[in-house]
Amino acid sequence: MIEIPESATLSSQAEIILVGKKITQVIPAASPHKFAFYQGDPAGYPELLTGRQVQSAAGHGMFVDIHLDGDVCLTFGEGTILRYFAPYEKKPEKHQLLAVFDDGSFIVCSVAMYGAIFAFSGELDNSYYQLSLHCTSPLDDRFDEAFFENIFRGVTKDLSLKALLATEQRIPGLGNGVLQDILFNAGLHPKRKMSSLSDFHKDELFHSLKVTLRRMAEKGGRDTEKDLFGNYGGYKTLLSKNTLQNPCPNCGHAIVKEAYMGGAVYFCPSCQGMK
Ligand SMILES: [Zn+2]
Repeated sequence: MIEIPESATLSSQAEIILVGKKITQVIPAASPHKFAFYQGDPAGYPELLTGRQVQSAAGHGMFVDIHLDGDVCLTFGEGTILRYFAPYEKKPEKHQLLAVFDDGSFIVCSVAMYGAIFAFSGELDNSYYQLSLHCTSPLDDRFDEAFFENIFRGVTKDLSLKALLATEQRIPGLGNGVLQDILFNAGLHPKRKMSSLSDFHKDELFHSLKVTLRRMAEKGGRDTEKDLFGNYGGYKTLLSKNTLQNPCPNCGHAIVKEAYMGGAVYFCPSCQGMK
């Protein structure tokens, strides 16, 4: 899944490799997928995109925007896998969008479980997208302690930390994936209630959130996700499906995996206290 470190990685790679290239062919929705979400009818994408030149790329939340001339944008989000291929590489048969450039190179978008592929002109009328675009990212210096405190203040119920941080798009692009290491580094349990946090804990959580996400982005995303060239990210996850068999890197205790709020949480019962 594309989360904050991956949208940063994919967009900076796209910026380097795609800017200046002109789209010469677009094949949309070649393989029907029930949970591939398009903006409008993808049958209109070839007309909208062909002949346009890539001007820039930007990542925000769980989205990657490829800006084309004429105020047209091609956006990918959530579970969409975006790959770049050199001209000599073989085009895969199954995909949800393929765009060929004037030098013969191409990008392929495929959706695993569910994902967004939006091509549009001007503004996109999608609330998730707009929220992600206009929210301050934790990678930004403006996401400071006061900003973080406001997220707590904006919630009336006594939520668990997973519910607070990784649901309802309070921090767009902070999903269940990156959450695991953020909470591990803060020494806090995913099910722990907000009300149980002292000022010290909140401080630890804020710093862990900032530092962990920045490290993930600097390393080119997590090692559970692939980049634009199909390589796994350089950030070695502490708690993920990749490390479940390993003992806690801090204390050696066995890591626990549990289903919680629509996704597995991983934690060390010894290091990540409930109180
Ligand atoms: Zn531990």
